[in-house]
Amino acid sequence: MFDNLTNRLSRAMKTLRGEARLTEANTQEMLREVRMALLEADVSLPVVREFVAKVKESALGTDVAGSLNPGQALVGVVHKELTAVMGGDLGADASELDLTTTPPAIILMAGLQGAGKTTTTGKLARLLVTGELIQNGRKIPKKKVLVVSVDVYRPAAIEQLRTVAGQVGADFFPSAADQKPRDIALAAVDHARKHHYEVLIVDTAGRLGVDEAMMQEISMLHGLIKPIETLFVVDAMQGQDAVNVAKAFGEALPLTGVVLTKLDGDARGGAALSVRHITGKPLKFIGTSEKLDGLEVFHPERMAQRVLG
Ligand code: GDP
Repeated sequence: MFDNLTNRLSRAMKTLRGEARLTEANTQEMLREVRMALLEADVSLPVVREFVAKVKESALGTDVAGSLNPGQALVGVVHKELTAVMGGDLGADASELDLTTTPPAIILMAGLQGAGKTTTTGKLARLLVTGELIQNGRKIPKKKVLVVSVDVYRPAAIEQLRTVAGQVGADFFPSAADQKPRDIALAAVDHARKHHYEVLIVDTAGRLGVDEAMMQEISMLHGLIKPIETLFVVDAMQGQDAVNVAKAFGEALPLTGVVLTKLDGDARGGAALSVRHITGKPLKFIGTSEKLDGLEVFHPERMAQRVLG
């Protein structure tokens, strides 16, 4: 395992004892540690570079008189900047799910195969069905939720969603391998309207890698059903690769948010920083377990803390 940033910084801090100011010279060693720690936490190189430059700029203007030592002042600067780039700069309601539209509020799930789309569809449906979703201190009233899969390439994926929906108490709109994704999507929206569903979550097909046909299909579906939320689901364990995938999805679709899954594993959370940077979109949820109650609202400072270690 890697050494965490806090350990690295406290070691580097020793060299700063007795200094009254953070200067170009005395912060160099610590900035090097910040850079190494972020790379080890799987943040992509260009993002690390930009971040370290920001920390440096902010640190050089920091008066350390009030801190126990300059090292601690620098840790504070790193934490503050990290929280900001994780989404703290977007305001408190950035990670809220937007459901304020004429029902049904449509949520489109996008991402590679295996990222956790179907599981997250179930988890999100569960939060909405049970009324357990808390956003900005407010409980969101229970919703009537319909889920549908347009993954006609993998019948097992459709069955998986049926099972998951049953487990969380959401209704399932059936679909089959011999149908066209657009027909399924339109029929599901129509059904949701007629039966007064408040939320419709559309689970889409994923490929093992980004490919043109898949991007065209999801972009077509987006234009067709005009979701209020388009969530990009990405596996935190993908580390550096998450950047390229995020870039491709961000270019193909007007994303409204990101869900980072599998944060219960070893992933340090560096992908959160990269994906947020690449897409410019807020992280809205994190997946913290294989189980269907393992979805949490994203908090920038908590993720900053996790990356800091
Ligand atoms: P999809 O192909 O994008 O629909 O991915 P799935 O929803 O089928 O998920 C792929 C695998 O990842 C499954 O084994 C899930 O149980 C697992 N998974 C999804 N989200 C999480 C998570 O947050 N934590 C853990 N540990 N596993 C997850």
